[in-house]
Amino acid sequence: MQKWVVANWKMNGSKNLLNEYKKSFKNHKKLIVCLPSIYLGEPSGLILSAQNIHQQLKGAYTGEISASMLVEFGVKYCLVGHSERRQHFHETNSDVRAKAETCLEANITPIICIGETLEQYEANQTTEVLERQLAECLPSRSGFWIAYEPVWAIGTGKTPTTDEISEVHLMLREKLPNTILLYGGSVNGDNAATIFAIPNVDGALVGGASLDVAAVAVILKHAR
Ligand code: PEP
Repeated sequence: MQKWVVANWKMNGSKNLLNEYKKSFKNHKKLIVCLPSIYLGEPSGLILSAQNIHQQLKGAYTGEISASMLVEFGVKYCLVGHSERRQHFHETNSDVRAKAETCLEANITPIICIGETLEQYEANQTTEVLERQLAECLPSRSGFWIAYEPVWAIGTGKTPTTDEISEVHLMLREKLPNTILLYGGSVNGDNAATIFAIPNVDGALVGGASLDVAAVAVILKHAR
């Protein structure tokens, strides 16, 4: 089955890049693009995701964006708990859960990001860290996706071994049999085929490589 590709531009990109995406990937059925929020209102023919959301539906939260606003612009997905949000904006597991609940109430699919730090990886704590994140981040109802993103693999060019990804995804599949499971962390045109071939990997969350349309095209080719 064709794998999902979720492109996370982070705070990168431009109108030009959006135009390139429209030309190359308009109406693609398995590519989801996490745009900076200012671009989400542009008609694009792409499946759109936000990169963050506020847990409240409205109110005095200057600078924030609500689920109902995303829905108005046809946004179907939202990243929740990306490690950069946890690191730079101090989001906790309980914030992540609240945001995921808000998304589901609004009919937006939350893509909940979990993953261990390098220190936790080196201390062999991956499983226990992920289990705690699942216990504390998952909303009460189904309909969410999970992205396993080892923090030490994001933007570093390093990835876990295929056995390590396979072990984590098997654990996730056993706990969440009907949930879409993505792997994220330094996925690119060179390693995408290997990662997509790992059992229980339903797709990839791609950061840096998503800024290069040619690299996205190669990743999408391997996703077929
Ligand atoms: C990400 O932004 O979630 C990510 C995985 O980034 P990169 O592909 O650059 O490691």
